Amino acid sequence: MVWEEFNWKGGTVLTAIHLSSIILVPWFLVTQLLPSGILLTLSFLICACSLSITAGYHRLYSHKSYKTHPIIETIILFLGSLSVQGSALEWSDNHRAHHRYVDTEKDPYTVKDGFWHAHMLWMFKKQKEIDPSTVQDLFNNPLTAFQHKHSVLLMAATNVIIVLTFGYLFSSYLAAFIILVLARLFFTHHTTWFINSLAHYWGSQPYSKEHTAVNNFIISTLTFGEGYHNFHHTFEYDYRNGIRWYQWDPTKMLIWTLHKLGLASNLRRADRWAIKKRLLLEDKKLLLEKAKTLEQSRWEEVEKKVCSLADRLTENINSISEKLKTYKQLKKQHAPKSEKVQAKLQIKWLRKTLKQDYHQWSKICNTFLNSHHLPPIQ
Ligand SMILES: [Zn+2]
Ligand SMILES: [Zn+2]
Repeated sequence: MVWEEFNWKGGTVLTAIHLSSIILVPWFLVTQLLPSGILLTLSFLICACSLSITAGYHRLYSHKSYKTHPIIETIILFLGSLSVQGSALEWSDNHRAHHRYVDTEKDPYTVKDGFWHAHMLWMFKKQKEIDPSTVQDLFNNPLTAFQHKHSVLLMAATNVIIVLTFGYLFSSYLAAFIILVLARLFFTHHTTWFINSLAHYWGSQPYSKEHTAVNNFIISTLTFGEGYHNFHHTFEYDYRNGIRWYQWDPTKMLIWTLHKLGLASNLRRADRWAIKKRLLLEDKKLLLEKAKTLEQSRWEEVEKKVCSLADRLTENINSISEKLKTYKQLKKQHAPKSEKVQAKLQIKWLRKTLKQDYHQWSKICNTFLNSHHLPPIQ
């Protein structure tokens, strides 16, 4: 990288945070006594700041996955400034470009330029100008526009507030600065950056192989649920990243809780039948690839079977999804009971057929792939 391309403002701040954290945090831990309660405060601040990025900068502002009350937005923007990741507006501008141009040279943090480029080196390069047409909604939002206008001042001021408040409470401004600012920033920066690096590098791709994004449980535990990145890049507007009940996605839980408290609305979810079809398509691609490695006669037989079963499953999924919509409509219109019973029976029959076909599909997947991505039928 030539010096004309160096991002002096961002690069200097990041270097200063890194150097001072690497030197001062270990020095403090070895030579000083930690005020009691400071680690608990650090944990709380890490959770709050990380969630402001995942639930706020990412799912609320970049993807418009839900809407929330201005008070929650103000809290998100305060914590977002405290996280020193720029304004929500410029963060979203970069992130929307990342999704739109993923893995190409127009993707600001493309993993194709290497792990470390995606992780942090991209920020040391001169940043592209913000494209107003891609973040017009955030320029129109007075809260995000204000935060963007005073971004540097707010990042500094929120961190000074933390040092002054907790420095006074713990009777050590130095401890507050080193542990609650430097250690926190070091940790939250790298865990957020893992989403651009590790989550495009190490994991499985059940939903799509058209991009480098992967699903990884370990990354999810570190990133408050953002590790189900393969799903996220395939259904980016969904407020969830981990869609199964057992997948660790505390950001999803927070948004859901806000919704239950009446503080969030318009939660967007991908249609579950569309998700099933996506998984089916990926398995079909894998099976057909595998079939090509078989001898000619066997290959044709497997290919025929895979294609016909996949077509039947897709057809059944479409029918069941349509029938469910019709049933909902009938209920809404208070249709006669007989019509509702009829629709319910059809759905029941379709579910049964679908279950049988999925069973067959699982068998084929297990035989040829040793695994498959299809979820159980609900
Ligand atoms: Zn990504
Ligand atoms: Zn995203």
